[in-house]
Amino acid sequence: MQYLLNDIAAILQQPMQGQSNAIIQYLVTDSRNIVDPTQSIFFAIKGPRRTGKSFIADVYQQGVRAFVIDEPIDISEFSEGVFFHVPNTIKALQTIAAYHRSKFSIPVIGITGSNGKTIVKEWLYQLLQPDFNIVRSPRSYNSQIGVPLSVWQMNAQHELGIFEVGISAKGEMQALAEVVQPTMGVFTNIGDAHNEGFSNVEEKVEEKTKLFADASKIIIASDYIPTALTTKATIISWGSKPLPSSASQTIIRFPDLQLISQQKENNSTRLALKYQEEEFQLQVPFTDEASLQNLLTCVLVLLQLNYRISVIQQRVLQLTAVEMRMQLRRAINQSYLLNDSYSNDKISLSLALQFLKEQANQQPIIAIVSDIVNTGEPAEQLYHQVAQMFSSSGVKQLFAVGPEICQYFVKHQKDHFPFSIQLFANTQEVLQHLHETMFQQSYILLKGARKFAFEQLAHWLEQQVHQTIMEINLTAMVHNLKAYQSLLQPNTKLMAMVKAFGYGSGAGEVARRLQQQQVDYLTVAYADEGVTLRKAGIHLPIMVMSADEYSFDAMVNYSLEPELFSFQILKAFHQYIIQQGLQQYPVHIKLNTGMNRLGFDIAEIDQLANWFSNQQALRVKSVLSHLAASEDEKEDAFTQQQVDLFSRSCNSIESALGYGFIKHIANTAAIRRNPNWQFNMVRLGIGLYGADNIHQANLPLQKVATLKTTVAQVRAIKAGETVSYNRSGVLQRDSIIATVRIGYADGYPRRMGNGIGNMFVKGKLAPTVGKICMDMCMIDVTDIPNVQPGDPVEIFGKHISIQEVAKGAGTISYEIMTGISLRVKRVYIEE
Ligand SMILES: *Cc1c(COP(=O)(O)O)cnc(C)c1O
Repeated sequence: MQYLLNDIAAILQQPMQGQSNAIIQYLVTDSRNIVDPTQSIFFAIKGPRRTGKSFIADVYQQGVRAFVIDEPIDISEFSEGVFFHVPNTIKALQTIAAYHRSKFSIPVIGITGSNGKTIVKEWLYQLLQPDFNIVRSPRSYNSQIGVPLSVWQMNAQHELGIFEVGISAKGEMQALAEVVQPTMGVFTNIGDAHNEGFSNVEEKVEEKTKLFADASKIIIASDYIPTALTTKATIISWGSKPLPSSASQTIIRFPDLQLISQQKENNSTRLALKYQEEEFQLQVPFTDEASLQNLLTCVLVLLQLNYRISVIQQRVLQLTAVEMRMQLRRAINQSYLLNDSYSNDKISLSLALQFLKEQANQQPIIAIVSDIVNTGEPAEQLYHQVAQMFSSSGVKQLFAVGPEICQYFVKHQKDHFPFSIQLFANTQEVLQHLHETMFQQSYILLKGARKFAFEQLAHWLEQQVHQTIMEINLTAMVHNLKAYQSLLQPNTKLMAMVKAFGYGSGAGEVARRLQQQQVDYLTVAYADEGVTLRKAGIHLPIMVMSADEYSFDAMVNYSLEPELFSFQILKAFHQYIIQQGLQQYPVHIKLNTGMNRLGFDIAEIDQLANWFSNQQALRVKSVLSHLAASEDEKEDAFTQQQVDLFSRSCNSIESALGYGFIKHIANTAAIRRNPNWQFNMVRLGIGLYGADNIHQANLPLQKVATLKTTVAQVRAIKAGETVSYNRSGVLQRDSIIATVRIGYADGYPRRMGNGIGNMFVKGKLAPTVGKICMDMCMIDVTDIPNVQPGDPVEIFGKHISIQEVAKGAGTISYEIMTGISLRVKRVYIEE
């Protein structure tokens, strides 16, 4: 299918302002993700803090000429631009995708539900892809914007579509139903997740069912068939219990796929099932409940597609766990590795490249890419677009692996690609060729279709030694940032605190993500932390809290802005700036309003204001103070007094100086607790990392950090025996004790020993036993069946909060986060 801009005008039923006969291949909603500007149309979508039109100049600059807008703009600035003015850009995007969808008559499976959508989609893909050319949603593309972008990928070669759809509020489903037009519906479980936008579960189910208005069948677990489900479609269910029946019915009916029994073995489960009178067994490579539910949903879909039981039995054995998040891991020679082998569509590839580009800054990006299989696209077109993506994201070097991709680059040898290319017939050849010196502080993308077994390359590149890692979820961090931004007055600026290695999360990686989100300021404690950020490519203004005389050179060389807190440091810095022949150097003035840590005292304000107005070398960028007890309601009178002192002092400084500056006093807790404390900037620290201590449900934050390790050994020990140093853990019963690879040298507090701390293993909490050792500790897994060496163990994260660990250790989450040792590898996650 080809769309000219004229066709787009017809579909949108909107006149086109401007002239062009460009062909449109790409629908673009993100200004950072443009592959081929000449074939793109940009949808200017409003964000919580930015208008859609604020992106247009940037996108135009990148070469895009076609725009869909829903705010008035002065188009005369963009003389070559073509504009469609619509009531709502997201609706316009959906309209175009719905039109595109209506041109195909292939079967389409639509998946919705509260949890498990992505897993069911990916597993259906794994199970069905030997037989169909499948188009599916990339990653978890299931939003109002993600769904139309997913469906836009459909082309004439595809034989089956699988799309997931998520909604968060009433009224959203109708439009997405028109975009997806499923012929078969799949409900994953309908839990309480994302209930916020609905008044109750019935309302949510009713809304979700709208996706299946024209589907002929709906696949669902019988436990979840809601009473409110009204639909023309046939309900096909799986479950173990008889279906609920009305009083008048006497026959007991079972779900279509009946689960007779399940028996868990080491790492697999044996299921006894019955379908259309036939009983059969299924051995599946999972044991947890969520996976089993998702699996049975998939099996029922295959049965409905008339798959033979013997085929299903073989295929489910091959299923692999789904990892849809992007993980940036440390690799050899200070490189980073992004293994994106799990997905094989172009949108995922361009997202992965965008993430790498943002993190790599000026370091080289090396892409190791295999044949991309089963896209249904002609190879020539596919690899042409892939090559374009490499060019536009600054890939320096390509290792092409496999006959198809090699053939493309051999054929186009004479084209001038802006990256060097090496060709390999298969993965073995790459392994023979690899050498450590090939990777120096590079950012490596691994993208291999399953049959190429790129795991071997990943192992080689990671050379992982220490099994304890801390995952930092950058997507969750951005979510938290936006949550706090939603509490700000429209013009209030935001300073993000990335001191102490970004509260332990990794300064450069965190700062790059914040820079991309356009926060206004960053703050570190010491100048060398600021230097690290500059070297990592951070160009945002950076304030340094603890300036001292030894750091002035670094300060000026790297454009860092000191916080000046006493006459001594002020005069010394002033002197230094004069010696350097500089003028108007930006500085920040810290006032002490009651914290009694750093800052000019209130009695010094007049003298300070006077001093400043008589010189030209320094310019006051901002005046700040720090609250001592902003999280504590009992101290609100004191906090208010600090705020009042601060406000009055700022006013006197301002009138003496004769120019304005930024004023800021609020930290995380203050932002959340009182809008009158915001002034014109706030300083967000712990809240960014999702670990603040305010117990108010009004701000949904996400957990950013997960600390995890693995079991090293498991042993059975008799009652009365003891565990760990000083025989501190005395066993009251015959026990199974697991030794795990984390200790106080990693930052797990010694106070957590002897049952004070818990770790999360195989779905359950296991208390510590005996003292915590330097590099290891022991946990009691007697009540958790089948714990094995190598099993993953969560120390904090989804199931155990940092706040809980902090409480056990008698400290605060700040200390726990910043105390995680640097030998614990940080892994960066992008969802
Ligand atoms: C660390 C710090 C903050 C941030 O505090 P949070 O409670 O983490 O939000 C703000 N201002 C100053 C001066 C700080 O030292």
